[in-house]
Amino acid sequence: MVKIDVLSSGSSGNAILIKTKKSLVLIDNGLSYKKFKELISMVNLEVGKINYLLITHEHDDHIKGVPLFLKNNPIPTFVSRNVAEYLKLKNGSIGLINFVEAEKSFDMGDFEFTPFALPHDASETFGYVIKSEGIKIGYAADLGTAGENTVSKLKGSNCLMVEFNHDLDMLKNSFYPEPIKLRIAGKLGHLSNEQGKKLLSKCLSPETQAIYLMHLSKETNTKEFALLSAFEMIFDRKIFVEATNHIYPSKPFIF
Ligand SMILES: [Zn+2]
Ligand SMILES: [Zn+2]
Repeated sequence: MVKIDVLSSGSSGNAILIKTKKSLVLIDNGLSYKKFKELISMVNLEVGKINYLLITHEHDDHIKGVPLFLKNNPIPTFVSRNVAEYLKLKNGSIGLINFVEAEKSFDMGDFEFTPFALPHDASETFGYVIKSEGIKIGYAADLGTAGENTVSKLKGSNCLMVEFNHDLDMLKNSFYPEPIKLRIAGKLGHLSNEQGKKLLSKCLSPETQAIYLMHLSKETNTKEFALLSAFEMIFDRKIFVEATNHIYPSKPFIF
């Protein structure tokens, strides 16, 4: 059994749980401890049951909750050197810090994780290929451009977790200052619905059973726009598709 629970996704805070019968991995924690505990109880899991923490990059919406979380739950944490430095995480200081590098696979319990570099404006941002029990999950959120490497990593995934951050027109017409608009739409920002759709079109395969649309902006996107774009690619294929949000846990998918 491999189960995916997206507790929260987007610039208000990210926290994703992936579990087998024996291993429970938390990807990022950009939530207050109170909010995190509230959301995890909604998926019938407990904070104390989490075995490993993985951090994708150092933007606030991915790490805000990490210090307090680790203080209360000193568990093995997997993070790049750059991001660990930013967070001032030292080996042995809080839990057990394991440094990860692009393209070098490592195990967390029942899972094998392979990080790959994503173009994004943090010191280092990783997407992940996650494998367990013959299931492959391809995770790529927080990226400005989806290049060949991302496509080749995600191809053949049973579950695709892909960024659908904004609707370009909504972004253009938003009240964001011009530099912020340029940052979001830039090569190191976030994928639009249109770009997310293109990425899906290159990665969809007969193996694909589930798709999570990740990191939707609450200001410059809607669930409907994101889903509409995704379904232009999926047509009538029977695939579980969920547009994630930052308010309550998304529908779980269980392999
Ligand atoms: Zn983010
Ligand atoms: Zn980011």
